[in-house]
Amino acid sequence: MSPSSSTAPDPVGSAQPPGPLPLALAGPRRAPGRGAAKPPRHLADLPLAERRAVVAGLGQPPFRASQLSRHFFGRYTDQPEEMSDLPRASRDPLTQALLPRLLTAERELSCDAGTTRKTLWRTFDGALVESVLMRYPDRVTMCVSSQAGCGLACPFCATGQAGLTRNLSTAEIVGQVVAGARLLAAGQVPGGPGRVSNVVFMGMGEPLANYASVVAAVRRLTDPVPEGMGISQRSVTVSTVGLVPAIARLAAEHLSVRLAVSLHAPDDELRDTLVPVNRRWKVAEVLGAAWDYAAATGRRVSVEYALIRDINDQAWRADRLGSLLAGRLAHVNLIPLNPTPGSKWTASRPAAQREFVRRLEAHGVPVTVRDTRGREIDGACGQLAASASARPLS
Ligand code: SAH
Repeated sequence: MSPSSSTAPDPVGSAQPPGPLPLALAGPRRAPGRGAAKPPRHLADLPLAERRAVVAGLGQPPFRASQLSRHFFGRYTDQPEEMSDLPRASRDPLTQALLPRLLTAERELSCDAGTTRKTLWRTFDGALVESVLMRYPDRVTMCVSSQAGCGLACPFCATGQAGLTRNLSTAEIVGQVVAGARLLAAGQVPGGPGRVSNVVFMGMGEPLANYASVVAAVRRLTDPVPEGMGISQRSVTVSTVGLVPAIARLAAEHLSVRLAVSLHAPDDELRDTLVPVNRRWKVAEVLGAAWDYAAATGRRVSVEYALIRDINDQAWRADRLGSLLAGRLAHVNLIPLNPTPGSKWTASRPAAQREFVRRLEAHGVPVTVRDTRGREIDGACGQLAASASARPLS
């Protein structure tokens, strides 16, 4: 896949509302005619066969593509001086052609005694995106961004407030995970050397509005070394606002990644305001696509529900949600709202949250309440890029 697909209008992303929805779905907020900048080509944008062709084009033996790929996906390095199996003279031309540095750490924040780490990245064209590494006793999860900004305008989400800058390329997405893997392998995260076990597309952006780059990134992350990084497909979660045609397309990819659907309301009236794209694809259509996805993959769908005080946390909404999900291959992940700066909304009262959980469970629906890791570093909700008070680490 060529990185150009990250900047061309995505077939799914552009197969969007025909009507005059007040959404930035059509694309980046920039002057018409000025195309989005295109990140330099990187080996993670390409399947191995195409990497070989690039290497051959440089007059090098094609097997050098596998060597370079092992360095990047297996040893997490893009530094020519660390590639002692390559002839000295070919290291620079090969790394320049296939391993350009795409992301520069602008700021690093950590909490939970160093086991939660958030990085604000600057892309080659100055866009800011963030990723979060979360180490638990039994796993390490990387939360990655798929777009710089987002065009879906959910009013409670910090990223949604800023609009879409551009889609990330496959290599820009994969690079966030490789950077985390590099830190872990080097023993720089408390708990000893480790590996990235899980990846969640829950950073900035709507992954299914950047469909081609995201699916290619899933393949790069999960194909074995040297084709990719060798993470289990079952440990990857793609989270979406509910772009129905793209969910159907993902179901047909024969991937066993988990789908998370950001529902946030069981009724169209409220969901139209919390997730504005609901004006195009209603609750029933989104859940229909989710059940088709579960049937095609055998994977339980995760229904994300940010609990917002007195907005969507009423007992009757818990019952409505419970009856929509009862008997389905689904579980609910409740997220206490992380208020964005200046927001009039806040998290639910503990009693309302407990009652919400109780009513879902009474419908036989499995429920978890997301831990609020990284909250003090504005983790997981796109707030670092917007936050002036974030303190840099040394
Ligand atoms: N665009 C994708 C991924 C976005 S972020 C999606 O919407 O699913 C991942 C999750 O965090 C989504 O469920 C999103 O709705 C939720 N989220 C965003 N802002 C939040 C906030 N301020 N508090 C709690 N959850 C939030």
